[in-house]
Amino acid sequence: MERNNTVTRLQRELPFYRPHCNETVLFEHAYHNRLPVLIKGPTGCGKSRFVQHMAARLGRPLYTVACHDDLTAADLVGRHLIGERGTYWSDGPLTRAVREGAICYLDEVVEARKDTTVVLHPLTDDRRILPLERTGEELQAPPEFMLVVSYNPGYQNLLKGMKPSTRQRFVALSFDFPDAAREIEVVIGESGAERALAETLVNLAGALRALKDHDLEEAASTRLVVYAANLIRSGLDRREACIAALAEPLTDDRETLAALTEVIDAVLG
Ligand code: ADP
Repeated sequence: MERNNTVTRLQRELPFYRPHCNETVLFEHAYHNRLPVLIKGPTGCGKSRFVQHMAARLGRPLYTVACHDDLTAADLVGRHLIGERGTYWSDGPLTRAVREGAICYLDEVVEARKDTTVVLHPLTDDRRILPLERTGEELQAPPEFMLVVSYNPGYQNLLKGMKPSTRQRFVALSFDFPDAAREIEVVIGESGAERALAETLVNLAGALRALKDHDLEEAASTRLVVYAANLIRSGLDRREACIAALAEPLTDDRETLAALTEVIDAVLG
């Protein structure tokens, strides 16, 4: 099953990424030391964009796998398929990344089935091997191969947290929403919005994130702030755009929605 997998071939243009602090340098050091990287942080705070940016910067293709609770080791490694001429082996994205010396990014890795750790462990210690049990092959990862995983510590339940024996194989980086000045740059860079609009939206996101009394599972992400800016830039009414991008996606509860809308009205004036 390969739903949600994407492959980014070498990109000539660097995807826009506004660093939070020193993460680009740290990532480069990890890459050159052949160390796997774990990125922790809330949804929509720039983890995937960071990995895309770094892959382009290091000149490596990128295999991204959006992990989900049905994802098995075979989905990563590969499986035998039946074709017109009988069965044949088909590499999964992890195997392709190892063969090509690419970067493999497993987004929300803790969602995946537990059998995936069996293939990740030998790849994330100094052996750097990927055993393909079904074909009897054992691939040695080339120096250019890198494994990057991410997860959102905020909404994972305790059972789903990453096992210490797995986490301790990674160099880890914590991400959060950028501070206001950086988030304004991100909104301008991503949407082409004027500074004044970007400032208003980032203020609004800050006010929405501060709303603690309500039962919000997740805070308004930078991704949603960019959506709001895009909607407004294309001519949608500000209030409507903010409700659609920064309130409705966060809750189904009418009362919470009313509270978010109140904040939107207060900030937009
Ligand atoms: P995550 O992987 O953490 O869920 P993404 O990397 O997909 O989030 O980020 C969501 C969107 O937010 C991106 O598509 C981009 O528009 C924007 N974004 C967030 N942080 C940054 C950043 N530091 N630099 C550039 N764009 C960013």
